[in-house]
Amino acid sequence: MTDPLDDIRASLKPYRGRVDAFARLPERGRARADVLTELAELADAEREAWLSGHASGAVYQGDPEHVAFLSEAYRLHSQSNPLHVDLWPSATKFEAEIVSMTAGMLGADATEDAIVGTVSSGGTESILLAMKAYRDHAGRPDPQMVIPSTAHAAFMKAAAYFGIEPVRVPVGADMRADVAATADALTDRTVVVVGSAPSYPHGVIDPIEELAALAAGRGVGFHTDACLGGFVLPWARRLGRDVPPFDFAVPGVTSMSADTHKFGYAAKGTSVVLYRGAELRHAQYFAIADWPGGLYCSPTFAGSRPGALSAACWAAMVSIGEQGYLEATDRILRAADTIKAGIAAIDGVDVIADPLFCVAFASEAVDIYRVADAMTARGWSLNGLQLPPAAHICVTQRHTIEGVAERFVADLRDAVSDVRVAPDAQGGMAPIYGAAATLPASEVTGMLRGYMDLWFEV
Ligand SMILES: *Cc1c(COP(=O)(O)O)cnc(C)c1O
Repeated sequence: MTDPLDDIRASLKPYRGRVDAFARLPERGRARADVLTELAELADAEREAWLSGHASGAVYQGDPEHVAFLSEAYRLHSQSNPLHVDLWPSATKFEAEIVSMTAGMLGADATEDAIVGTVSSGGTESILLAMKAYRDHAGRPDPQMVIPSTAHAAFMKAAAYFGIEPVRVPVGADMRADVAATADALTDRTVVVVGSAPSYPHGVIDPIEELAALAAGRGVGFHTDACLGGFVLPWARRLGRDVPPFDFAVPGVTSMSADTHKFGYAAKGTSVVLYRGAELRHAQYFAIADWPGGLYCSPTFAGSRPGALSAACWAAMVSIGEQGYLEATDRILRAADTIKAGIAAIDGVDVIADPLFCVAFASEAVDIYRVADAMTARGWSLNGLQLPPAAHICVTQRHTIEGVAERFVADLRDAVSDVRVAPDAQGGMAPIYGAAATLPASEVTGMLRGYMDLWFEV
């Protein structure tokens, strides 16, 4: 009898049988040249899908020259560990300047308040750090966070990790946070209110001004999650796009997250968390005075950290500059316009709400997950959404290559036709999302845990 998980196993380990597997350390080390050959083979096999612009999000710049530049920056600082600032003071330069440049881009000049922050390992860590800071700053035994249902899963992770009760408020028909419902959800226990600019699922910007005013009126903090939009929206606004206030120019915004490893075009593994004023950042920090290992302090979750990633992030930002980000954003928004107009013109699929560059679509005519599967068959890697069923493409610089946006639209048109002709095709994500919609949540999360176990099978 075949194991139903075998298909998933095969998709996770396409190289199984082609390259050696190491369940144990090799008795003697392999020659470096052989190791590098194998690494190159694995990378080569995976590169085409994202390089050619077939992936939603994932790789936000990806130009081979840019990638080589980041790798060179990493190589030069590969031994750096910001935990040891005596050995690597350059790490404090890179990180202080990354924070300052990001703050300057996100409204620091529009306020008298000091905008401070730290570099983290990614959007999730930035969000976890901010939520921990609010919890510790408030010092309540029973804290709650009020978040729109569309806020990133990282907020639920923060709630789970730090014992904060999440209060999830359904969004409006335009997929944006519902201000009145948010007001109703606030209690004495609320320590922070959250909005996204834009949201991961539908790419729409929550009414940050209204939400932040609400939070300020109640004397609690407000976090703008600009993980996705932090390095796009400031430039989109300069390009004349309609971008409502979302950053520190809004008085009630007390913290933000912005991902350098997305549209900052750094290598994976960096993000920035920012605060209005020094107090919240202090609540994020960790310091201990009575440890036999010495006087110890560390600003983020990790102890030792890869300073090389901060060097590469700094190199990306300084080499691209305002003009570079502006031009990249212009290309991305144009590609997104082509994609939005293209989807709108396809009979049977609709763009959800009014996104800028992360474009979600749904269907009343066909199973949208089957459409996504038909896109997978055409080489695309899109993101499935749920509640309601949908999929999205987050437009990056990979989609600004000549012809890619048009190819997406043409393939989507064909994918919809395929599903109309054969609505009951087998396999893919459709049956999984179909089953998930009917099962209790605890069973689905149990399945997801089993799925992750597969990642760690040799
Ligand atoms: C990507 C993203 C995050 C989380 O970022 P990671 O870097 O994947 O940890 C949080 N919020 C939004 C809106 C995002 O798009």
